[in-house]
Order: sequence, then C-alpha cells, then structure tokens
Amino acid sequence: MAISKSFKHGSKCVYCGCTEPLYFTIDHIKPKAKGGTDALENLQTTCVLCNFFKGSRSDKDFKLMLKHLGELHKIKAVSVNASGKINVYLS
Ligand SMILES: [Zn+2]
Repeated sequence: MAISKSFKHGSKCVYCGCTEPLYFTIDHIKPKAKGGTDALENLQTTCVLCNFFKGSRSDKDFKLMLKHLGELHKIKAVSVNASGKINVYLS
C-alpha cells in the first residue's frame, strides 16, 4: 500500500514522533481485528516499533498504555503493607 500525504501526521509517527521514513508503517486507528477498515480516515503513520507494540489495541488503549509506561519510568519505590495495599512512590 502506498503512503499517501492524506494520512494523519504523515511525516512522523503519531505516537513517538519518530521522523525516519524508513521506519514508517501504516497503522489502522481502529484495528482490522476489531472491525476497522482500510478507509483513509482509519489510517495513520506510525513507526515499526509503535505499530508492533500497539498490536490489535485501539488507538485509545495504546495511548493509555504509553501513558502508563511513561509513569513507570517515574517510579521511585513500591511498597506493600500488611493488609496487601500497594503504595507507589513517584520521583
Ligand atoms: Zn513510533
């Protein structure tokens, strides 16, 4: 499938901002596995890595996952108290 300039954010990955065209792939915003189509409005440019990790997740679910991954980098410490409650301390 040829890359069209009408794709959303065609010059960079919509998730990580990568601008290297060699790594670009065409991603279905709503995955085909979940009923998404090949219509242009359902296509966007992502890099290979983001597309791989997104898998069959929806755009919304993948953005949520990226947000959580970003928060993981900020974790300074995790503790579990006697009643099993988990406390996460961010830096
Ligand atoms: Zn990316």
